[in-house]
Amino acid sequence: MTSAKTLRTPKALADAGLIAPERLPALERVAAQYAVAITPAMAELIDAADPDDPIARQFTPTEAELQVRPEESADPVGDFTHSPVEGIVHRYPDRCLLKVNHACAVYCRFCFRREMVGPEGLRPLSPHALDAAMAYIAERPDIWEVIVTGGDPFILSPRRLRDVMDRLGRINHVKVVRFHTRVPAVQPELITDELVSALQAPGKAVYVGLHANHAREFTPAARAACARIVDAGVPMLGQTVLLRGVNDDPETLTALMRAFVETRIKPYYLHHGDLAPGTSHLRTTLEEGQALMRAMRGVVSGLCQPTYVLDIPGGHGKVPVGPDYLSEAGVEDPAGRRHAYPLSPSEDKEA
Ligand code: SF4
Repeated sequence: MTSAKTLRTPKALADAGLIAPERLPALERVAAQYAVAITPAMAELIDAADPDDPIARQFTPTEAELQVRPEESADPVGDFTHSPVEGIVHRYPDRCLLKVNHACAVYCRFCFRREMVGPEGLRPLSPHALDAAMAYIAERPDIWEVIVTGGDPFILSPRRLRDVMDRLGRINHVKVVRFHTRVPAVQPELITDELVSALQAPGKAVYVGLHANHAREFTPAARAACARIVDAGVPMLGQTVLLRGVNDDPETLTALMRAFVETRIKPYYLHHGDLAPGTSHLRTTLEEGQALMRAMRGVVSGLCQPTYVLDIPGGHGKVPVGPDYLSEAGVEDPAGRRHAYPLSPSEDKEA
């Protein structure tokens, strides 16, 4: 299945053969609530004959999104409650988010910011709002790292990214700038030399976090786009959302983590699915997530091991959620056997 343009409506998805036309009325209701976009690179990866295709599951709207559970929330990670000025989310003392735009190349059906992102957010922060956000960062010497996110910052033009980096480059106490994006995988043609060069600023360590959830996203074009970034001296980190029916089995998760490492990207976080509205069909339990992490430990290279994290609802921060290998009974090895280990130093014996 090929398509030259990003598919942005259920009708376009039906015309491309990605959804059955009889589903259009229900999916129009979903699309009226949550933005839809599937780039040509992702549309080409979808096997329309497979009802469980893991790429389709991430990007194709479904009727299940209309079912909102009581525990779900429009702002599951507390962005609004931690936003002192437009464009800034400041949750932890030494770092803040700078949300430069609210649009993305694709719209993920499980997005934790699904109530905030979409085509109506296409306009980046206004010049006045960007000035105020930069002033907020400049006035707080504790901010050591700025995480540039959105939306997806890599859909901005290299000129705009250069402007953001130039401004951050002038703030001495900011030492690290991290970009979060899906673009190298979902729209790799945007990763031009010009864009990569716009990420550089003298004296700043720049990282790019790539969000990818299935090894199939690492197409030759995606790998080449990542290589352009890494070859320019910009280290990359992998971020994955644990998703039911996409990557919630040990073989699929292992293949994904290996694809990251083969592309010179260190898996960083495996996110437990956030309580975003209409996403329960894609969420696993914490217990299932822990079992997956256990299955990879000891079998798969340590380089491939992300930290499994939960963003506590309400904006209380991200914490590792195990599994835990240490208890009063000792320490557990990767095969599940317990071994005695002193939890505190023993008393010195008298000579
Ligand atoms: S790219 Fe990120 S911000 Fe955009 S829809 Fe996907 S998860 Fe949400």
